Amino acid sequence: MKKKQFETEAIRTQMERSQYLEHSTPMYLTSSFVFEDAEDMRASFAEEKERNIYSRYSNPNSSEFIEKVCKMEGAEDGFAFASGMAAVFSTFAALLESGDHIISCRSVFGSTHSLFTQFFPKWNINTSYFNINEVDTIEGLITPKTKILYAESPTNPGVDILDLEVLGAIAKKHNLIFIVDNCFASPYLQQPMKFGAHLVIHSGTKLMDGQGRVLAGITVGGKELMEKVYRFSRITGPALSPFNAWVLSKSLETLSVRVDRHCENALKLAQFLEEHPKVNWVKYPFLKSHPQYEIAKRQMKAGGCVVAFDVKGGVEAGRKFFDAIKLLSLSANLGDARSIVTHPASTTHSKLTTEERLGAGITDGMVRVSVGLEHIDDIIADIDQALA
Ligand SMILES: *Cc1c(COP(=O)(O)O)cnc(C)c1O
Repeated sequence: MKKKQFETEAIRTQMERSQYLEHSTPMYLTSSFVFEDAEDMRASFAEEKERNIYSRYSNPNSSEFIEKVCKMEGAEDGFAFASGMAAVFSTFAALLESGDHIISCRSVFGSTHSLFTQFFPKWNINTSYFNINEVDTIEGLITPKTKILYAESPTNPGVDILDLEVLGAIAKKHNLIFIVDNCFASPYLQQPMKFGAHLVIHSGTKLMDGQGRVLAGITVGGKELMEKVYRFSRITGPALSPFNAWVLSKSLETLSVRVDRHCENALKLAQFLEEHPKVNWVKYPFLKSHPQYEIAKRQMKAGGCVVAFDVKGGVEAGRKFFDAIKLLSLSANLGDARSIVTHPASTTHSKLTTEERLGAGITDGMVRVSVGLEHIDDIIADIDQALA
């Protein structure tokens, strides 16, 4: 049969129906599965059969969620995790040996940055960083021990765009494993494997759930690398709960519709802020003024849900702005139906040094807005009155 469209796969990828012929996938809240007899049990544990044994290894709800994301990303296999960070940690831990070296974009998610700087060095795994606008410095950072090239695009919280095709070509030339955290784009807007990524990581907590209910993470990619991630994860136990997997698989049914509206609202807010006298600068990937607008247009379907801008007057003005916000939430999540504003310099990225912060494009007055699904007029009105 002809390959179906994204929206159709998101809805129609479904586990086998049970004897009750349910229309919508039920929840399989079970920690383990039973065997017919001794031989069945032996063969199952010997992995001569592909079947569920224990929910730390696999569960029908997780498998449905994984299969959907694999189809969306064009991947062969995947593993679902209890959180995005469990996915990031387990993926790296499964692939790296003591002494190995990572090259990462400087502006990565705060906890990922902490993992690289505070924990991996304990196991003699070190990371070198490149700045967003200095992709040409990457090759100079490569050592005989370099194993992974890691990037996020759009970046958090600066919404900068990295040219995934360029990174993919570097990884290929030097035989590196290219891993992309695709959380800010969602698989609906961008599929990094088309540009040479070997593995794609998502925090399912963000746009995938989209309603701020559950934590989740997922890694998908080629069979060989995923086998290593699976072996590590099956033993160490970061698996996603079947309940959360069920929630996420349902959420993916509406991903395209939600993300379309997120992007439409975000672009309108960005255009409004661009004209605002109290705003120093606005960054949104699909604004013509964005420094990597052309790259964004090439690799993304739309600009995503996050808009970054800088309030005139630095920290003090920023503080006043947050205290004046009425409708929007002051919260750490993003990709939620509810619009959220955060101040990265004093919250998510406060543990970075000033130099690291500026390297990641985070200024003192910078506000990150995760534009939600409320009516755009109400979102703009709240931000406008807070700026006033
Ligand atoms: C939130 C986030 C993560 C971590 O995901 P959790 O589900 O919170 O553990 C990783 N990367 C990016 C880009 C994120 O936004």
